[in-house]
Amino acid sequence: MADNWKTRTKLVHEGSRRSQYGEMAEAIFLTQGFAYDSAESAEARFVKAGDDEFIYARYGNPTTRMFEERIAALEGTEDAFATASGMAAVNAALVSMLRAGDHVVSARALFGSCLYILEEVLTRYGVRVTFVDGADLDQWRAAVVPGTKAVFFESMSNPTLELVDIAAVSDIAHAVGALVVVDNVFATPIFSRAVDQGADVVVYSATKHIDGQGRALGGVICGTRDYIRKVAEPYLKHTGAAMSPFTSWIMLNGMATLDLRCRAMAESALTVARALEGHPKVTRMIFPGLPSHPQHALAMAQMGSGGTLVTFEVAGGKEGAFRFMNALEIAKISNNLGDAKTIATHPATTTHQRLPQDQKDALGITPGLIRLSVGLEDADDLIADLMQGLAQV
Ligand SMILES: *Cc1c(COP(=O)(O)O)cnc(C)c1O
Repeated sequence: MADNWKTRTKLVHEGSRRSQYGEMAEAIFLTQGFAYDSAESAEARFVKAGDDEFIYARYGNPTTRMFEERIAALEGTEDAFATASGMAAVNAALVSMLRAGDHVVSARALFGSCLYILEEVLTRYGVRVTFVDGADLDQWRAAVVPGTKAVFFESMSNPTLELVDIAAVSDIAHAVGALVVVDNVFATPIFSRAVDQGADVVVYSATKHIDGQGRALGGVICGTRDYIRKVAEPYLKHTGAAMSPFTSWIMLNGMATLDLRCRAMAESALTVARALEGHPKVTRMIFPGLPSHPQHALAMAQMGSGGTLVTFEVAGGKEGAFRFMNALEIAKISNNLGDAKTIATHPATTTHQRLPQDQKDALGITPGLIRLSVGLEDADDLIADLMQGLAQV
């Protein structure tokens, strides 16, 4: 809408569409289709649909369109396409642009389902995939070769919060004409500057911070109008991973408070990380917002924040970690992130359980490791809860 609007204004108003009733709140257009005034107008719409013309909810829907326009404005891309889940977004972003014989370079430290798409799905259809250590630019330089079609990485890895230098990897990729596809969930759309740093396509699981209240599964692909409309949309509209209008409405409501929530969570995450660092029962602290993180300077340059997740290792291995988690009263044991409720996850036995031991070792997923998604509770209450948990270790 207004190019000069700042983030919080965009998050409240951008993309809003009002019906003839002038409703204040974004309406849920819970409809699969749209009636045409005449056979001629149906024909015309199938030839070329105008901005306010929709055909079928698998292709697009007014509520979903509001969400797509709002997130595109926030991310700074020309367009966006919403999907049924974050994984549908990752899958469609990659599969829609690749064909047999293409070469992709990917960071190795990936969310398990992302790894499945790169390792199992793409290779099954003849795409060649080279995995690199995402933090090692020399490995990217060696792996990205003339003819490489795309690079893929999570800008901050799960659960060990290792960053990939978006600007540096984008330079390497663009030198051979490869597209840069970033899964930016941990960075959040608020701290993301991925497009300015060179990313061509940015993917989010909206299930995380965008909803922010653990209600709905969703995803979104952000990119240029050409990429979204000519590459991603044809694949998505024919394969059916559309976001439900009801979910789009939930996500729109989430976005109004996204900036406030992410900043409050990140501030609490820093307070929590400072309180836990150096605690005798905490044997390792990983938080990009602390100077002790090896990529602290990159985190500040790339995101201007340490993010909303704190990962740490407690003494006593798995037993210590379980004692700690079972003692928590405020933080919930679960595996979502970016939720208003603080969530403690034990990656070794849950999200990363299926990884073989050598890969767990390589990724630093030790038996005592805890991933904490810091929520919106009072930071003092959270710290008190974590401290009484550590006392049980
Ligand atoms: C959660 C997550 C996904 C998948 O999103 P869903 O909405 O659960 O499908 C993909 N990438 C990362 C980094 C995630 O954290």
